[in-house]
Amino acid sequence: MNQPTDFEKQRSDIRLATERFIRRRPFLDPILRPYAALCIEKINRVEALEASQKDHRPPLDPRRLERGLPAVDGKQVTALKNLLDTCFGPIHGVLQQQFSPLGESLKRLGDLDREADLGRLAAALLSGDGLPLESLASRRGADLGVLHLLLQWTLGPVLAWIGAGADIDRNNFGAHQGTCPVCGFLPAVSSLSTAGDLGSEFLRGGGGQHWLHCALCGFAWRTARGSCPACGNRDHDRHRVYQAEGENDGERLDICLACNGYLPGIDLRESPSPMPPLIAAVGMIHLDAWASENGYHPLVQTPWNRLQ
Ligand SMILES: [Zn+2]
Ligand SMILES: [Zn+2]
Repeated sequence: MNQPTDFEKQRSDIRLATERFIRRRPFLDPILRPYAALCIEKINRVEALEASQKDHRPPLDPRRLERGLPAVDGKQVTALKNLLDTCFGPIHGVLQQQFSPLGESLKRLGDLDREADLGRLAAALLSGDGLPLESLASRRGADLGVLHLLLQWTLGPVLAWIGAGADIDRNNFGAHQGTCPVCGFLPAVSSLSTAGDLGSEFLRGGGGQHWLHCALCGFAWRTARGSCPACGNRDHDRHRVYQAEGENDGERLDICLACNGYLPGIDLRESPSPMPPLIAAVGMIHLDAWASENGYHPLVQTPWNRLQ
């Protein structure tokens, strides 16, 4: 087990970090609270899977990682249908309750677990096969982006649970270092941490370490700095860092001028209390706004960068 399994601590870290951000930036209240609720529901789902499925964790093929492929393959995701079905209802419920602008589309997708095969849809999402998702969204009269979010957040806890139980090296300096070793998805945020910040024994030793945090399953892996996770651009002159003027608390955007993608980053080395990087990413939504005004796009769509 190489991910923290102290679910209560994970939930409490999210709550505390959310309150801290809202005290500092009250305007974030309406976006941070819904997002925190969604993150907490994800942890609840991982905990429920751990309790009910512990002895049925799908085995992963270590040779895939050696070949530079993510540990979970698409075929496996199709077989996860039953697990996805258990996550769908609670995740859909929280989305509907917390993200009212998505309400109409969410209503139209509310029976997806009964009417469609979530395993196949999740496999399409993971493999980037847009067609089945596009045709489903248009049949239902639902927004394609909302369908993506719903599937991402339904699949997220299942993959997080699988990843937590897998023996995966978190040092990912190979050819595919920009994508998640568990699921192959792009990161939502990067962090600079002192060793041990992520709560795992074997991370200790060394100074500032550069981590990427998967937008789909939340897995954290360590990489070298200075390369774009999306397009692999390593040319120093074609990277740009943007920070807000004045007090920025180590918050930044790493912008790739080759693909115009950007990734929020947070320096956690001086952080006075635990700061879940995905919460920190939402706390930087004012930087997302600057980026979109300047023609840059986020590496992945997230509920907060969709809603701004
Ligand atoms: Zn992942
Ligand atoms: Zn790039």
